Amino acid sequence: MKDQGQRCRPAVEALEERLLLTTTRLIIDFTPDTTVRNKYVGFHRRNFADAFRGHTVADAPFLDFDGNGVIDTRRDPAIAAALITGRVMFYFARFLPLGVSVRGVDVLRQTQRGAAELRNGLHSPRLQVFVMYVGGFINDPSTVGESFQAAVGFNNEDYARVYADAIVLFFQQHLGPGMRPIDFANFVASTVAHEFGHMLGLGHPIPDFHDHTNVMDSSGDGQNDSFPDRFYPADLVQGNVAGTSPGVQNPTQELFLSFLGQPNENDITSDLISHGKTASAAATRAARARDELFAAWERMEWDAAGANPLV
Ligand SMILES: [Zn+2]
Repeated sequence: MKDQGQRCRPAVEALEERLLLTTTRLIIDFTPDTTVRNKYVGFHRRNFADAFRGHTVADAPFLDFDGNGVIDTRRDPAIAAALITGRVMFYFARFLPLGVSVRGVDVLRQTQRGAAELRNGLHSPRLQVFVMYVGGFINDPSTVGESFQAAVGFNNEDYARVYADAIVLFFQQHLGPGMRPIDFANFVASTVAHEFGHMLGLGHPIPDFHDHTNVMDSSGDGQNDSFPDRFYPADLVQGNVAGTSPGVQNPTQELFLSFLGQPNENDITSDLISHGKTASAAATRAARARDELFAAWERMEWDAAGANPLV
């Protein structure tokens, strides 16, 4: 009995130590920062609140969050941001005991908070920060979110974007008049969770556009989706190779490993900038090639896929 206890103890301590090693912050910044270098082609920077501007209950009833018959750019987006943040927390609920927190910041104000958080994360080996800027659009109006997908076994401590203006347009053009504010908030939250998933190493399932209940499937719409806890074929970045290739992934398992502190593939570039360390030229080239290739993760390809989740 005594021996057993002694054998168990180091294992418990090792686990506790590991869990305490890494803290992860998932930051949702509702006022995209001006102090970060934009990495998304054709991006038009607008605030989340700007997605509400100029709309009426006649053309966008799903934006009337306080139900007062008027769509304004303060109360309605503030309520929406709170609902979105709560819903994103729901997607990551089972990981919160691993030191994961979800925070909505810079609602209706600009303090460059996301950039500051990300800088802290990149400079700390114990703190991982992933930032989602919610607002604006890119030249392709059918793209509702973009991110750089981390390689399997790695995290991409970085920022990504969710295009609120494009989601408003998508609701108006494709989802009909029955959409409620909660449907809009849930769709934005699903897109946020999906793009965080890419930065944490998750790929699209193979085949894609086939499972609305999988938040990593491009047809996930926030109605009833989650991160699955099962293995299935997925498009993954594997090794130091540009491009995705078919692999097998269990999203829940990959997320657990991500939050326990998988290595950050930005270490190469962030070290070069902040600490002057050298990286192998080949590794830097490969990382750059991968980033360029994955600059355009399109969440929605409705026309190509002929799919519409809510109709
Ligand atoms: Zn995607």
